[in-house]
Amino acid sequence: MATPATTEALARELERLEQADLYRRRRVAAWSPELRAAELVVDGRRCLAFCSNDYLGLAHDPRLAEALAGHALAAGAGSGAAHLVTGHSPEHHALEEELAAFTGFPRALLFSTGYMANLGLLCALADRGDLVAEDRLNHASLLDASRLSGARVRRYAHADPAAAERRLDGSARRRFIVTDGVFSMDGDRAPLAALAALARRHAAELVVDDAHGLGVVGPEGRGSLAAAGLAPADATALVGTLGKAFGTFGAFVAGSETVIETLLQRARSYIYTTAPPPALAAATRRALALARAEQWRRDRLATLVGRFRAGAAALGLRLAPSDTPIQPVLASSARAALEAAERLFAAGLWVTPIRPPTVPAGSARLRVTFSAAHEEADVDRLLAALDGIPALRPGGAA
Ligand SMILES: *Cc1c(COP(=O)(O)O)cnc(C)c1O
Repeated sequence: MATPATTEALARELERLEQADLYRRRRVAAWSPELRAAELVVDGRRCLAFCSNDYLGLAHDPRLAEALAGHALAAGAGSGAAHLVTGHSPEHHALEEELAAFTGFPRALLFSTGYMANLGLLCALADRGDLVAEDRLNHASLLDASRLSGARVRRYAHADPAAAERRLDGSARRRFIVTDGVFSMDGDRAPLAALAALARRHAAELVVDDAHGLGVVGPEGRGSLAAAGLAPADATALVGTLGKAFGTFGAFVAGSETVIETLLQRARSYIYTTAPPPALAAATRRALALARAEQWRRDRLATLVGRFRAGAAALGLRLAPSDTPIQPVLASSARAALEAAERLFAAGLWVTPIRPPTVPAGSARLRVTFSAAHEEADVDRLLAALDGIPALRPGGAA
């Protein structure tokens, strides 16, 4: 047990979070085959989810579950060790080759999670004496990774290449420009063409975390670099996650032969951890093939997003400049975001309120996300429910 002094200090801090409407609570969410792919039973209530990152609607696809179960029956549930010991299976190896082919990079390396991929990548490539310029709205794992690397970390104004340029210090050994491809809480896209040009001009390394772009944007869902008309040679490394659009779990880094070989030798979050189950790699291979082939999923998303934005604008809701399935609706306060989410939940619609510190102070929101598993009628139902919530209007009461 923690000492009484520590327990008391922790309890006070929890109390403070509660008072500030920043306390986080989990809900228990269950899916089963009699539900639609975008539905969940949450605390006993059947509801339609507008908050998952399952953008292509693949997480509940029976073809992925069959690949997972089939491979587990054939080859076992666990990998038994790290990739550099006995854990690197033929399924892992084949998935890496397919991810390299998909992204166009010479090689890809699997990590257990995106968080670990970012830690491994930046800590292996950056060190004291280096400089990492980070978009102010980058994912927490990218900020944590650059801090842990020991490099000097400088944040630049969101999606602003001129601000990024001012952060690039000529005296550093290596300079990194690190950005989300599609921003996780805002849904907008990084100005990758300008950042790539900046990297080229300053001989800096461009690192793109495309957790929300891969599978969703670009031809065949090849992601933000492809959507921006860039080639793999324009970036030092591309980070992708497998638990979002691809519907399974895990992550990878794509890069040159030398970068990937360096990660294999040096990335501690790769070396000192158990490889994911091979069956998971089998399921992800299936997901990758489906994501590439089933263009209708991206077309459906575009239709849903267009319908939502038109409807929300007509209602006077405050949207962000996003054309991706992430469509935040800004609220007047953290309390307003919480209350709006409660009202939607009571109507059988699950949308998560996002509050500081996940987003900057004063920008609490409902993070609405769409999935190819949604129908146009679902969008209309969401709009009708949002229409009844005064706190989402500019100047609306909390
Ligand atoms: C979700 C996310 C991660 C973390 O990936 P996990 O596999 O969930 O650990 C990293 N970067 C970005 C931008 C993300 O949105």
